[in-house]
Amino acid sequence: MAENLRVLAVVAHPDDEMMVSGTLALQAQAGLDVTVGVALNGNMGGLPGATREKRAEVRHQEMLEACQILGVTLEWLGYGDDDFMDRYHNDYQALEMDFRNLFRRADPHLLFVGVLDDYHHHHRCVAELALNASLNASNAERESEYPPSSMIPWTFYYAPLPGTPFVPSIYADITATFDLKIEALQAHKSQHQFLQDHHRTDIFAQVEATARHYGAACGITFAEAFALCARFNRPAPIQQLAKFFPDTH
Ligand SMILES: [Zn+2]
Repeated sequence: MAENLRVLAVVAHPDDEMMVSGTLALQAQAGLDVTVGVALNGNMGGLPGATREKRAEVRHQEMLEACQILGVTLEWLGYGDDDFMDRYHNDYQALEMDFRNLFRRADPHLLFVGVLDDYHHHHRCVAELALNASLNASNAERESEYPPSSMIPWTFYYAPLPGTPFVPSIYADITATFDLKIEALQAHKSQHQFLQDHHRTDIFAQVEATARHYGAACGITFAEAFALCARFNRPAPIQQLAKFFPDTH
């Protein structure tokens, strides 16, 4: 594969990239083209008293800042938290077309998505949409304003927040980029107190504990964990995968 390797992580809300951000920073540093696709604008989370418009605006800015810290490109789809499920149930085709166009623009070789049994319905629906759209994006018969993508991307599920059963297939050593992962999380200022109050979570403690836990599983300091998507056409030969997980030591 002579062309540059491209990676796309699809997440539901601005800040959900925290599950995979250490790996994305590592890949960006190694010269891969890395894109984060954020489906929803976060207009229902944090910033008590703010309008939904203001909340979406602030969270877009926070997400831009996080992407700048990680060295990755942002694709902001901008759906409202408040009407996403209505679209999902009543206008699925249009939604899937938007996701398909995201895949046609980013044209990833490797895809990271959330697990399909995640605790949050937005997370589950966005992961399912991403899998469907990434399958359709390379089919030229499904026309849109963008040319078809190159391939059905090789796919991994990123580890969910603690609680959902998850058996990792591989671990990425993010010891070298753990500081960037934390710095990117700091950019989501509107979420820190909200997560404490609403989710009963000290998000920084949780992120560090999770990275140490997965690190301990493979004898290193900090890791992110992934599970192979075993669906037809999603696994990559190990020789291909190695190119996406650069050794920084
Ligand atoms: Zn979320």
